[in-house]
Amino acid sequence: MPALLDEAERIAREFEYPADQVQRGVDEYINQSNEGLAKENTTLSQIPTFVTAVPNGTEKGLYLAVDLGGTNFRVCSVQLHGDTTFNLTQSKIMIPRELMASGTSKDLFLFLARQIEAFLRIHHNEHFEAHLRRPGDATNKENMFDLGFTFSFPVRQLGINSGTLIRWTKGFNIPDAVGHDVCALLQSAIDELYLPVRVAALVNDTVGTLMARSYTSPGETGTFLGAIFGTGTNGAYVEKLDKITKLQTMEGAHYDTSTGEMVINAEWGSFDNHLSVLPSTVFDRELDADSNNPGVQMFEKRVSGMFLGEILRRALLAMHQDPALGLFKPSKTSKVICPENSGLYRQWGLDTSLLSLVEADKSPHMAEMKTAMYDHLKIENLSDVECKAVKILVHAIGKRAARLSAVPLAAILIHSGKLQTENMVDVGVDGSLVEFYPNFDGYIREALRSVSKVGEAGEKKVRIGISKDGSGVGAALIALVASKDETLKSASEK
Ligand code: ADP
Ligand code: MG
Repeated sequence: MPALLDEAERIAREFEYPADQVQRGVDEYINQSNEGLAKENTTLSQIPTFVTAVPNGTEKGLYLAVDLGGTNFRVCSVQLHGDTTFNLTQSKIMIPRELMASGTSKDLFLFLARQIEAFLRIHHNEHFEAHLRRPGDATNKENMFDLGFTFSFPVRQLGINSGTLIRWTKGFNIPDAVGHDVCALLQSAIDELYLPVRVAALVNDTVGTLMARSYTSPGETGTFLGAIFGTGTNGAYVEKLDKITKLQTMEGAHYDTSTGEMVINAEWGSFDNHLSVLPSTVFDRELDADSNNPGVQMFEKRVSGMFLGEILRRALLAMHQDPALGLFKPSKTSKVICPENSGLYRQWGLDTSLLSLVEADKSPHMAEMKTAMYDHLKIENLSDVECKAVKILVHAIGKRAARLSAVPLAAILIHSGKLQTENMVDVGVDGSLVEFYPNFDGYIREALRSVSKVGEAGEKKVRIGISKDGSGVGAALIALVASKDETLKSASEK
C-alpha cells in the first residue's frame, strides 16, 4: 500500500511548522502581548494577578488551599519546610448537584466552609481547638490559617484576595453569586462557623504552577514562567509593573508595589484568534467549525490535549473514507477490523493519550501500538503499513503542537530581556501532554533554538522542569505571599 504511506506523508507535510513560521509567530505574539498589557479586551488577555513576588524555596509554614473548579471540592494543607520540600495532606469531596445549580450562594459557600471545618478537625485539631477557645478574637494570630482559593471560573480580579464572579461555567448556576466577590462569600461562610481561617488569595491554576515550581526548583533562583500543556494550555510569567500600563486605569485595583513586579496570567490559549500567523489545515478548520466555541481559543485548539486527538481522528477518518487508500479496510494484505462503534466515527472519540502511546512505540512490528489502537478505537489486526501511516500522522500533529508551544515561551523570554542578563531562566511546566508525549520538550527546544533572538546560546539558558500541583502547593504559596503583603495587612487591621 505505498499510496497509503504517500498520502500520510502528504498530510504530514501540511502539519509542518518550519522555523520561519515559528519566527513570525514569535514576532506576532510579542505584538499581541504588548497590546494586552496596555488595553482591556485584546486577544491576549494578559490578566494582572496581583501576585507581586515568587517564592525561592526558603519559605516556611503551614497553609491551607482549596480548589473549586469542577465536580470535586478539594481541601488541603501544605507544610512548607523551607528547603524546597513540602508535605501535603488533602481530602476531596463531590459537590452535591443541588448545590451546584438550584440553591443560593450561601448554601454553596456554607457547604464549602463545613468541608474546611471537617478537614481541620481531622488533620489540624490542635489549631482548631486553640482557636475555638477564643472565637472571633482577631489577635489570635498564631492559630489562624491563611488560605489560597483556586476558583476556576471567570472572575474580574481587583486584588490578591478579591474578585467578582463574571459568570458560572461547567454546570454551575447560582445566579445570586454573579457580580459578587467570591473571596468575601467564602470568608463570610468561614466566619459564620468561627473557623480559624483567612481567605488570603484568589488563585489561578497557571499562576499556581509558576509558584509551585519557583518553590521546588533547585537553588534559590525564582521561576520566571509557568506553563500548562494539559486539557488546555496557558502560561503565567513575572512582569515589570511599569510595563502593565493598563493597571493605571483599572478602577479599584489595589496591590503591593514594593517588588516592582507582578505575575501576569497570559491566557495564551486565545493567541491569534484571528489567525494572522497560526498554521491551519483543513482538519483544524473543521474541528473549529464543529466545536461549541468556533473562532476562539485558536492557539489552544492546535496545541492542547483536549484537541490533538480530535485533529488526528479527523485526519485518519479522511484517509479511511478515501477508497483509493484502504486504511482500516480489510484487503488481501490486511485483516483489519474497524467496528461501527469505533471512536474513529465519533467527535472527540480519540483521546490524546493515544498519540503518546503511538509515538512511543519504536519497535519493528509495533505490538504496543496495536494494543493501544484496539483499547482506544476498537481497531484490530492492523497491518504494519497501516500502523506506519498512523504513526506518520501522529508524529506530525504532536511535533507541530510542541513547536507551536515554543512560540509563547520564546516571545515572553525575548520580551523580558532575561536571556541577555541572566545565567539561567527557570520555566515550570505541568500537564499530561508535556509530561507524557515523547520528546515534547525536545521539540520545544529545537524550535526555541531556531528563533533569532534566542538561538543556541539562549536556549541553553532555559531550564525547564515539571511543576506538579499548582492548585495545592502553588495556591498555598500564593496565600503565603499574600499574607506577607503589607498593604493587605494594614487594610485588614483597620
Ligand atoms: P488538566 O489539564 O485537566 O489538569 P491533564 O494535565 O492530565 O489534566 O491533561 C489532560 C489532557 O491530557 C486530556 O486532554 C487528555 O486527553 C490528555 N492526556 C492524558 N494522558 C495523556 C498522555 N499520556 N499523553 C498525551 N496527552 C494525554
Ligand atoms: Mg492540571
